[in-house]
Amino acid sequence: MPASDRILLVTGGSRGIGAATCRLAARQGYVVAVNYHRNIAAASAVVADIQREGGRALAVQGDVAREDEIVRVFATIDEQLGRLTHLVNNAGITGLAGRIDGVDSATLRSVLDLNVYGAFLCAREAVRRISTKHGGRGGAIVNLSSAAATLGSPGEFVWYAASKAAVDAMTLGLAREAAAEGIRVNAVAPGLIDTDIHDDAGIPGRLARLAPSVPLARAATPEEVAETILFLLSEAASYVTGAVLRVAGGR
Ligand code: NAP
Repeated sequence: MPASDRILLVTGGSRGIGAATCRLAARQGYVVAVNYHRNIAAASAVVADIQREGGRALAVQGDVAREDEIVRVFATIDEQLGRLTHLVNNAGITGLAGRIDGVDSATLRSVLDLNVYGAFLCAREAVRRISTKHGGRGGAIVNLSSAAATLGSPGEFVWYAASKAAVDAMTLGLAREAAAEGIRVNAVAPGLIDTDIHDDAGIPGRLARLAPSVPLARAATPEEVAETILFLLSEAASYVTGAVLRVAGGR
């Protein structure tokens, strides 16, 4: 499929890894739907950057922790861009850091609603459009997992680690379920990446504190993760499905 025929949705495409993925995908010729939740300025900046470089992008607001909004996001893409071929299930949160003995149910609920329930529902909507069984052209899905899924994140956000372990299981199961229908499904498991997510978890200075413990001795940029995501979306990864690819500097 020529890159210009590829229609990609990146959930949480306004900031961090999602924004870097939108920009790189557009540079490679994808038509990009930039989903965002609240930060319209950030989403508009990503779209403006893409358009300035001659690419095609659309900002699509929607809370992808909610089924009605997910359905609306996909319907907007159907109407304005055409039939989806690729999905990056990227939107994710940690909730405020803490221990299990202090967590409130609202934090647990919001993390699982976005990272697990939302990721499943976005995958459902994507398969309905991409699968050859549903009349689609085939394509690929990349889910954002985390190194947390195998580290457990003790004392920080065990619930987040557990949500990403669910993403890993979903990646494997969906990859096997949809393999004969022209869809490859993989996950990327980043380690310490320089985005807003650490401050939003209420742990400022987290990256600087933990970077020396990474074998590569540093945090990564969102652009470094985007390169791996774009590889997995591309035909260069034509025999890769069901994989969880760690981008964590050896951590
Ligand atoms: P980030 O910089 O905090 O950006 C979060 C993005 O998600 C923003 O675009 C935000 O939109 C969007 N978002 C948040 N809640 C949403 C919702 N309910 N509906 C739709 N969009 C929503 O995040 P990041 O660090 O790039 O992380 C991206 C993914 O990588 C996540 O799944 C995360 O778990 C994973 N990851 C990150 C790291 C890391 O070190 N950064 C490590 C491992 C895994 P607004 O701009 O509108 O708020």
